[in-house]
Amino acid sequence: MINTTHQSIMKTIPIILFTMTIMSCQSKQNNSNTTMSSEKDTQHHINPYYSRTDTTVLNIPDSEWKKVLPDSIYEVARNKATERAFSGKYWDFEGLGTYYCAACGNALFRSDSKFASTCGWPSFFQTLRKSSTVYKTDNTYGMSRTEVLCGRCSAHLGHIFEDGPPPTGKRYCMNSIVLDFVPDK
Ligand code: FE
Repeated sequence: MINTTHQSIMKTIPIILFTMTIMSCQSKQNNSNTTMSSEKDTQHHINPYYSRTDTTVLNIPDSEWKKVLPDSIYEVARNKATERAFSGKYWDFEGLGTYYCAACGNALFRSDSKFASTCGWPSFFQTLRKSSTVYKTDNTYGMSRTEVLCGRCSAHLGHIFEDGPPPTGKRYCMNSIVLDFVPDK
């Protein structure tokens, strides 16, 4: 009986080791895919729709955005993904300048309307122009929220809440990845 159990264990060990090796390879492969994806994102993408001066409203299909946007921006801007709290480049950033839409270059916020929020995402109490953003009711994930989209290209930017500071009481809770910060000269 003991021998049988021992033999059975000895037969199982190689299978476990083999499985672990495969899992380890897959894990490495996933890591390398992640690296490739982030490398791709740092490359200069030719985006013919990006302009900081042209305010013409764009009506571009997602299939076209997919070609011109880095994957990380596309995921938030067109697929409405949300970056992890405290992970973006601007949640804890205090530079003086202007924030533009990373997809189309539309001017969205000035740094003087940004405030230190504990939520982990860059937060603003007002937009640069009234037309900078547009809004949509968002009832996903069992919540009733108001989605904020770029007023020029309709990119998903984040959500707006009513718990912001004076003078507006608004909190524009944004994803850093769809913001393009340009410092004042
Ligand atoms: Fe935009």
